[in-house]
Amino acid sequence: MSTARDARRIVLKVGSSTLTHPTGHINIRLMEQLVRVMSDLKNAGRELVLVSSGAIAVGVGKLGLRQRPGDIPGKQAAAAVGQCELMYLYDRYFSEYNHTVGQVLLTNYSLCRPESRENVRNTFEALLGLGVIPVVNENDTVATDEIRVGDNDTLSAIVAQVTGADCLIILSDIDGLYTKNPADHADAALVEEVRVIDDALFATAGGAGSARGTGGMITKLRAAQIVQRAGGDTYIINGKTPGRLYDLLEGAKVGTHFVGGGCV
Ligand code: ADP
Repeated sequence: MSTARDARRIVLKVGSSTLTHPTGHINIRLMEQLVRVMSDLKNAGRELVLVSSGAIAVGVGKLGLRQRPGDIPGKQAAAAVGQCELMYLYDRYFSEYNHTVGQVLLTNYSLCRPESRENVRNTFEALLGLGVIPVVNENDTVATDEIRVGDNDTLSAIVAQVTGADCLIILSDIDGLYTKNPADHADAALVEEVRVIDDALFATAGGAGSARGTGGMITKLRAAQIVQRAGGDTYIINGKTPGRLYDLLEGAKVGTHFVGGGCV
């Protein structure tokens, strides 16, 4: 079984509630820390793909809207503005460490059809071969219900599959999976290792913890299930302290480990 320590190609997913302040504006300190740690891991020889949420939240902040638009064109307009801002920041911060990013916007349509999935796979290979850190998001500006993946936890699992990653690391606003939703149960305890992802486990998972989160633990379990079925490992760790990535990749027990069987 490969562990995080042995992982060469890693997909990292960071959620909106980690990347933004409750005001909806980007958490610059957090983003800088994450970019710094990722740059260092890349320097140490890891290949990294970042699946980053936050476009709509950042767009809402940048446009000075009081709340997320309720209508689809409004959300897609906020995503268009926010995605630019997000990429501008990633490009700027990664450049400080001499790393290059490339934007990859995907929809279910591009991932489901064999020929376009193959195309996506080849693009990732080319980007990684060039030493680029791909920054991935759902193409929220054009995605309609019929063609959207729906949430970035699931998208990150599919990206892990397509890129043949050694593991998926989900950075959340919580330490990992708990025995019950900690928002409702004070006695909830952290689960360090999961071998079986079944209905009983799904029953312990609740929805998003904040207005900026989307899928909560349910979509994270679904993502871990996709990766596990493909034979890979998933880790959920707290993204508020990106330095914990070093500990995880040095072999320490951090967050929740969904045990897979090797390469995705
Ligand atoms: P992210 O932006 O990281 O995807 P989410 O809000 O979508 O954040 O998901 C994380 C939230 O899921 C936690 O903050 C917590 O409130 C909620 N949650 C529901 N059930 C559980 C559980 N069993 N264990 C841990 N967190 C849970």
